[in-house]
Amino acid sequence: MAYIIDGKAVSAKVRAEVAEETAALKERGVTPGLAVIIVGDDPASRTYVNNKKKACAEVGFYSEEYALPADTSQAELMALVRELNEKKEINGILCQLPLPKGLDEGEIIEAISPKKDVDAFHASNVGKIMIGDFDFLPCTPAGVMELLKDAGTEISGKECVVVGRSNIVGKPMAMLLLHKHGTVTICHSRTADLKEVTKRADILVAAVGIPKFIKADMVKPGAVVIDVGMDRDENGKLCGDVDFAEVEPVASAITPVPGGVGPMTIAMLMKNTLAAAKIQNGVE
Ligand code: NAP
Repeated sequence: MAYIIDGKAVSAKVRAEVAEETAALKERGVTPGLAVIIVGDDPASRTYVNNKKKACAEVGFYSEEYALPADTSQAELMALVRELNEKKEINGILCQLPLPKGLDEGEIIEAISPKKDVDAFHASNVGKIMIGDFDFLPCTPAGVMELLKDAGTEISGKECVVVGRSNIVGKPMAMLLLHKHGTVTICHSRTADLKEVTKRADILVAAVGIPKFIKADMVKPGAVVIDVGMDRDENGKLCGDVDFAEVEPVASAITPVPGGVGPMTIAMLMKNTLAAAKIQNGVE
């Protein structure tokens, strides 16, 4: 039986720590503030934004929501980002992705002040992560690192395989494992013999976006398996990139979906916003 890594519990712990630090910061006259921009009416984006606002309230942050219509122009969105870059009460700016067709996500990401880029998507923050001298880490990979820490997983010297090379998950995930001295391999859709590579992994991270893609015969017995996927199965039920029923008996530790990586993303966003508030106010 694998150890089931409880993302809900770890996320609650992180959020409680953020709430405690926020209370102390408020006594010094600083309230962390997060602005969330949502464009259009995508239901999944709406749910994410609602969850982020709720999390802000729970940890004691000030938050603002900008819900813009789907036909918002690039110029209007850019103007809002510039306004928020200057707004003193706002320490973090998050523009919920994906944006509706016709809007240039890259330009918006680059317009957000790197100091307020709590998603850590700006090229300047991405570069800092590469060097290993960063203010913020992208929320989902950072959440995975917290889960590995909580599970007592040794990373140094271990074979780490990340399946997926997106800018928001796969690539930064690989870099964070590398910083912790893992021997890291990144796989993608052109990887020649995926199973041969994944079977070498002591730590296997799946960020593919295909339901139940990782099967038992792709996993080394005793591996730690982290499932970043948020997919729908044939019945429309939320599931991950890992076939949990098959893989759990083979793994030594595994994250479930839901209740694994998912809850960590928002917790790490709160952590980044707190860090941004401290940096911007010169608080150690
Ligand atoms: P993405 O941008 O679509 O990237 C998917 C990656 O998987 C790509 O690098 C792709 O390779 C690779 N891939 C696709 N088919 C493959 C195959 N047959 N064999 C090997 N690799 C394959 O997705 P993403 O944004 O990274 O998200 C991945 C998953 O994580 C999704 O389910 C998403 O919903 C979930 N997610 C969850 C959270 C959370 O908070 N829990 C946050 C973000 C994302 P190529 O580059 O060659 O195309």
